[in-house]
Amino acid sequence: MTFAAASPVVKIGRVAGQFAKPRSEPMEKRGDISLPSYRGDIVNDIAFTEASRTPDPVRQLDAYRQSAATLNLIRAFASGGYANLENAHRWMLGFIKDSPQSARYQELADRISETVGFMRAIGLDPEAHQELRQTDFYTSHEALLLGYEEALTRIDSTTGDPYATSGHMIWIGDRTRQLDHAHIEFARGVKNPLGLKCGPSLTPDMLLKLIDVLDPDNEPGRLTLICRFGADKAAELLPTLLRAIKREGRNVLWSCDPMHGNTIKAASGFKTRPFDRVISEIRTFFAAHQAEGTYAGGVHLEMTGKNVTECTGGARAISDADLSDRYHTYCDPRLNAEQAIEIAFLVAELLKVERLQRVKEEVRAAE
Ligand code: PEP
Repeated sequence: MTFAAASPVVKIGRVAGQFAKPRSEPMEKRGDISLPSYRGDIVNDIAFTEASRTPDPVRQLDAYRQSAATLNLIRAFASGGYANLENAHRWMLGFIKDSPQSARYQELADRISETVGFMRAIGLDPEAHQELRQTDFYTSHEALLLGYEEALTRIDSTTGDPYATSGHMIWIGDRTRQLDHAHIEFARGVKNPLGLKCGPSLTPDMLLKLIDVLDPDNEPGRLTLICRFGADKAAELLPTLLRAIKREGRNVLWSCDPMHGNTIKAASGFKTRPFDRVISEIRTFFAAHQAEGTYAGGVHLEMTGKNVTECTGGARAISDADLSDRYHTYCDPRLNAEQAIEIAFLVAELLKVERLQRVKEEVRAAE
């Protein structure tokens, strides 16, 4: 995306800590049996038995160890040579080799190789320039389980400021963003970059009050608003929020989560996300920002590098009947590798249009 859009991209994964699952229903009923809902591996187990669904605090220790191990692996990948731009050809996964996205990707990788070759020729080689051989990758998750988050909150000895050390960035979910509730109280007290999920029930007035509490100093980078309205509602709801925030001069970063407002139950009974709705919400997000003169600053996806069949649509036109083939998620349906790459190309294109328009506006203003 950085190359295709010629824009710097901050990479933040929903990873190494995303183990708690907010639920709308506290209980799940199957036939005559009602049991506590599955709340994510950090709380209980997905199997529908009383023992599995009983919360077990030891799971928090397991989640912590797993997060630490994942972070170590990410660090190794980000700095150990795999991120070297000279390896761009090796980033494509075998099972997507024959897809249309693969051809597109190979072409892009060729252009990256050509550019790196040119840079090497003029003396800018990856051995001497670490930006060419490594990258920064940050972790993030929903700060849902406040006991766990508090236990991992530390005072930074150099500044004296409190940080949630469970991840680099934490976010507040759409179900727990009430102004006078504990999640907002916790988040306002830590210095990490914060995300706030913005769903259809959030009014401009409520949002401004939340921003006053979470980012009283109007600090750029402190607050990312992660919009998840659903493809059918985004065009109506997003512009009102954009205008209110622009009018009040608040320095927020706008990001689009096209996943959580577009979950449906397919006729087969599987929870899925139609790929065309995901694409549609991203397009609406960019169009709304273009119309209001604000920045479309990010996307927030649930994806896997694996060849799963969890979201319908995409280049291989996964149908409802295909979902059972490789439906591996315990939680929400994820984009598979091919669908994720298709989105990366789309976002790169939209970013490019946005960037070129801004350049034109700057030239016009200077004339
Ligand atoms: C999530 O991101 O996992 C999630 C549940 O999102 P939301 O709070 O927006 O529903």
